[in-house]
Amino acid sequence: MALTHILGYPRIGERRELKFALESYWQGQSALEALELTCDELAAQRWRRQRDAGTGWLTAGDFAAYDLMLDHALMFGAVPARFGLAPAAVGLAESFALARGTAQQPALEMTKWFDTNYHYLVPELAPDQRFSLHASRYLAQVDAALATGGAVKPVLIGPLTFLRLSKLDGPGERLALLPQLLEVYAELLETLHRRGIEWVQLDEPVLVTDLETAWQDAFEQAYARLAVGPRPRLLLATYFGPVLHHLPLIGALPVDGLHVDLVRGASQLGAVAAALPSGRVLSAGVIDGRNIWRTDLRRVLKQLQPLQAELGDRLWIAPSCSLLHVPCSLAHENRLEPQVRRWLAFADEKLGELEVLRRALVDGEDSVQEALAESDASLAARRHSRLVTNDYVTKRLASVDDSMARRTAPFAERIVQQRQALQLPLLPTTTIGSFPQTPEIRAARAAHRRGELGAFDYLQAMRREIRHAVEQQENLGLDVLVHGEPERNDMVEHFAEHLFGFGITENGWVQSYGSRCVKPPIIYGDVYRPEAMTVDTTRYAQSLTSKPVKGMLTGPVTLLQWSFVRDDQPREQTARQLALAIRDEVSDLEKAGIRIIQIDEPAFREGLPLRREDWPAYLDWAVNAFRLAACGVADGTQIHTHMCYSEFNDILPAIAALDADVITIETSRSRMELLDGFGAFAYPNEIGPGVYDIHSPRVPGVEEMQQLLDRACQVVDPRRLWVNPDCGLKTRRWTETMAALRHMVEAAKAVRARLTEEAVH
Ligand code: GLN
Ligand code: ZN
Repeated sequence: MALTHILGYPRIGERRELKFALESYWQGQSALEALELTCDELAAQRWRRQRDAGTGWLTAGDFAAYDLMLDHALMFGAVPARFGLAPAAVGLAESFALARGTAQQPALEMTKWFDTNYHYLVPELAPDQRFSLHASRYLAQVDAALATGGAVKPVLIGPLTFLRLSKLDGPGERLALLPQLLEVYAELLETLHRRGIEWVQLDEPVLVTDLETAWQDAFEQAYARLAVGPRPRLLLATYFGPVLHHLPLIGALPVDGLHVDLVRGASQLGAVAAALPSGRVLSAGVIDGRNIWRTDLRRVLKQLQPLQAELGDRLWIAPSCSLLHVPCSLAHENRLEPQVRRWLAFADEKLGELEVLRRALVDGEDSVQEALAESDASLAARRHSRLVTNDYVTKRLASVDDSMARRTAPFAERIVQQRQALQLPLLPTTTIGSFPQTPEIRAARAAHRRGELGAFDYLQAMRREIRHAVEQQENLGLDVLVHGEPERNDMVEHFAEHLFGFGITENGWVQSYGSRCVKPPIIYGDVYRPEAMTVDTTRYAQSLTSKPVKGMLTGPVTLLQWSFVRDDQPREQTARQLALAIRDEVSDLEKAGIRIIQIDEPAFREGLPLRREDWPAYLDWAVNAFRLAACGVADGTQIHTHMCYSEFNDILPAIAALDADVITIETSRSRMELLDGFGAFAYPNEIGPGVYDIHSPRVPGVEEMQQLLDRACQVVDPRRLWVNPDCGLKTRRWTETMAALRHMVEAAKAVRARLTEEAVH
């Protein structure tokens, strides 16, 4: 009989219990035991939810206090020597040294988990790394699951995915470490087998990406090795895309079952089923683990019924990937538009959908008539809702033509006009937009939200902050000022609150990394801007100074990337709707006399598809969306964009194609290496490489920033250089912000003086 399971469940807790327990422990306000207790409670709750939903397995081993990749590295004894910790001595308390760094040592690097907004810690392996098994915490989790009396399926990140997502600290090849790593995996599998574990899920999401031949061969060798010896049966789990390009390889691996993503890889079902050797389990990932929409149960059932007939109890049903990427439960959402709420399914609701599918297959559709009818009704309501389609937006989109995504004059001509109008010095200084979000600002916003601070008083409070920020910038002698973004809780949510087509949850938290969570807005309908969103704050700031104030907007690609998006139209189309809304805002700012407008796109690179062959199509529509947002202005209006914390060198042509007049970009952490890429590519427009890291409270000295600027001058014509920090300053305090910016302005002045002198001689 068909069985249901999940690949993983959110770890943070429906009330962000894990976040608060971690932060309280880190601040020394509670003991390690309290944190451990919270972890145990959350684990128990996760299994209760699965049991209540009738899943065939309780999934275990997918919980981590900070990060799952970190826990795997620790379990395999991969503790970098620089931390001075013996692998056997690293428990929960010590693990935070690697996760968060110490006074002496920076943390492990962090990077995005495939194309999700979750960040994992990158295991740091020595070229002569020896692995050893330290599985007590992992096994304790498995044992706790077993103790609940259910059938337990532990999860492990597979050896190839683990290695490929690790980095080697020194020369050599990661694959050289594989044979010995496999011995540790084999030992762990045997240990699980001895505990009576029947199935283990091995996650190998790297199989949806492009793999060089050496890595493909390594898959064969690795799984041949793991097939030997006493072990549970293995479910190879792939997700985040189709695996058609590796199907011959996958079909030949000696595993006992395969999980495939049938949401992102819907069309692969036939080929996968055909390639699956007889006797194997097929786990069908039919419920979207990445998005928050209800499943079309009737449609999925039609897909599953023939599979069920063919495979019988070798068919398992699951979400496409771990539910880590969606919030826990709709139970605490009381403020969402009721119509919209009915269209949604968070993790718990997805568990409910799994159970409906299982019963429909096992006991017949009649047994779940009511649930199927509700699924049909909600889908029909969504399809026909006036909240979803807006005729005005449809017409507007139809009227978009190519010229709207082109500036009138080329950059070389525009910049002459802009320089004339702005009269900025060489190496103009500016910031990326936000100034410190003080406890007072947060308190005012919270009071406003609770209805305790009226609209007028809130406006006054924000104006006081803007005035303060402008005064400070004038004191510093910055050349291009900003209003400081005090009114923005979050650069996406702020715009989502003002645009039609967006919904905002109260508790829809998703883990970003460690204790950090984000609450992505939900784009459910055509995006429409009913009125100007930023003109009032920007114009107010401009009224306080004779220096130019830069308007500050979030770009269409970033709004898209950091939201839950519609699944009833291509992303590209949603991006165009967002672009038009931002375009109108740009135009209103320009009309209000704002001469510099920055459109932030920090998530531009994140949208890249996992496979190279899909890059050009994405870059094409993403560039177009940005240009549609940006190109409605006069030649003399200067468009800035900002990007950060990504690898940019391989998408430089697309960045250039944005045709922003100025790009400010994070570079100081890589010591300006990024800038070499821009230099080699001969990036044509103006550029502001970040001269200091805003993630640290450390105040860099004048010298240090001056050196970075000198380097920048060697790579880029100084006439095209700007001076700015790496990113926004909202997480910093005013004291360190002022000190650092003062040094930055001084450094710019020093380099400016040198350049002027050189020009004279
Ligand atoms: N303008 C935004 C800020 O300064 C940009 C933030 C970002 O790049 N993530 O906060
Ligand atoms: Zn940034």
